[in-house]
Amino acid sequence: MKVNILGGGPAGLYFAILLAKRGGHHRITVVERDGPDDTFGWGIVFSDRTLAFLKDTDEETHGAITSACQTWDNVDVVHRGRKLSVHGNGFSGIARLAFLNILQRRCLDLGVDIRFRTAVADPSDWLDADLLLGADGANSAVRRTWADSFQPSVDIRVNRYVWLGTSQLFHGLVMIFRMSQAGLFIAHAYKFSPAMSTFIVECGPDTWTRAGFEHMSQTETCAYLERVFAPDLEGAPLLANNFVRWLNFPLVKTRHWTHRHATPGAAGASVPVVLAGDAAHTAHFSIGSGTKLALEDAIALAAALRDCGDVPAALAAYEGSRKPRVDAFQAAALRSLLWLENVEAHLDLDPVPFTYKHMMRSQRVGYARLRLMDPAFAALYDDWRRSEREAGPVPREFLDLFEKATFAHLATSMPDGSPQVTPVWVDYDGRHILINSAAGRQKDRNMEQRRRVAIEIPDPDNPNRYLAVRGTVVDITEDGADEHLDRLARRYLGRDRYPDSYRFPGERRRIYRIAPERVTAWDPFG
Ligand SMILES: Cc1cc2nc3c(=O)[nH]c(=O)nc-3n(C[C@H](O)[C@H](O)[C@H](O)COP(=O)(O)OP(=O)(O)OC[C@H]3O[C@@H](n4cnc5c(N)ncnc54)[C@H](O)[C@@H]3O)c2cc1C
Repeated sequence: MKVNILGGGPAGLYFAILLAKRGGHHRITVVERDGPDDTFGWGIVFSDRTLAFLKDTDEETHGAITSACQTWDNVDVVHRGRKLSVHGNGFSGIARLAFLNILQRRCLDLGVDIRFRTAVADPSDWLDADLLLGADGANSAVRRTWADSFQPSVDIRVNRYVWLGTSQLFHGLVMIFRMSQAGLFIAHAYKFSPAMSTFIVECGPDTWTRAGFEHMSQTETCAYLERVFAPDLEGAPLLANNFVRWLNFPLVKTRHWTHRHATPGAAGASVPVVLAGDAAHTAHFSIGSGTKLALEDAIALAAALRDCGDVPAALAAYEGSRKPRVDAFQAAALRSLLWLENVEAHLDLDPVPFTYKHMMRSQRVGYARLRLMDPAFAALYDDWRRSEREAGPVPREFLDLFEKATFAHLATSMPDGSPQVTPVWVDYDGRHILINSAAGRQKDRNMEQRRRVAIEIPDPDNPNRYLAVRGTVVDITEDGADEHLDRLARRYLGRDRYPDSYRFPGERRRIYRIAPERVTAWDPFG
């Protein structure tokens, strides 16, 4: 089989390796616009699980990668000058260039033809093959060329980021939140070699404009950020490879990953075209999994071609198996991205709850898992919760509303800005108003996208007495939502459990935590 692969990043190179390993009957060409030693960015991070599956598919690459990796098990969060560590997260960091060089060498050893420094202007020039793989990254020309089939959407996110390096060693995945005169800056830092760390800086558009980056040179930009992160860098410089490039993260999704291109002239003939990696989907770097997804795509595509009788069946199997998993991963990455874009709403939190929320942001880790990962940090969080119960935003004399069967009215915003109101059961955790609903409902969609809400909580025994709360949904989680619903059922229905017969098939319950910003406690006739 003749296979052309456009793009020599992780997806294209790893797919080439897996296909080439099967023997000499494949003719594989990888077309890459850059040279073997050009790279964008510094180090990347993998979870232990990612490395484990590489071992199963190509032990040689796995061995070379693991011996070039730095490892750690902690996520550190620096907020208000205090650093808190959460252990139990197995990660490895590696230089992006070292990683690509390992894949390139393995390809060359296996007889793959890599055409470096060959920029593809028109992907249809590369249709002289039995399969064309578009692995040409987030700005994919392949995806654009056959956009009618792939049906992509590219959502350019608001925050700006720049990918820098430093000789300061950050032992762990360190998230640093620093407020400056211009506004909030966030750094994602981790070591990727014995001498170097990645240092990605992210900020909102207003902060970026106020800081004046638009008119700064590379040296001025690095010097400015060195001042912002001086306590963390401890005198180490920030470094840019090539030049400083501030970018907005593109959230890429594609409805379909395959296309059949009818070849002109040859009646009925067509060349299958398929996407993999960032060309098909991107995942925000805050969950460090774009490369993992690209490699998993390569593995799934190679396996489908091995197992299925013909190429069209293999591509259908590949898309069918990968797309639902990638969709779920992208949803988690979007939650992480939204947390960082909206993190200013949480900055008044103490470092302990702030770190806890940071760990929960993608909803892939819940309280139970966190306690298993790091019992000492979970105990710290429990202590904080106990101490907070006394001093919540709801006046003590109105706490009885959360002991009665109180029907509250929740107002959320529709996409066009119009209000939507629904009756809801309501709870309180000492700091937040809690709502329990199900994924996919109108209020769920509204709160996911637009976090500002208002809720009126009237006393069922005296509707003149009520709490009116305006606030922000600071957390949406499925973790513990079924148990929470059962607790509510005791109060509202007098039953031990929320009846299964009340639930819709496949219903996924969620808890919404509303941080009150304004609370009116009104008892005019009391
Ligand atoms: C700031 C940042 C930090 C990240 N950190 C991590 C991390 O820690 N861990 C992680 O897993 N992922 C991380 N990622 C994501 C990761 O970099 C990507 O998801 C991954 O590289 C995708 O691999 P790919 O092969 O699909 O695409 P790419 O790596 O983008 O490779 C595509 C290749 O195609 C080539 N190409 C593009 N157009 C053409 C053309 N017209 N002609 C010829 N060649 C072309 C490019 O030069 C490139 O080499 C990060 C991303 C960013 C932006």
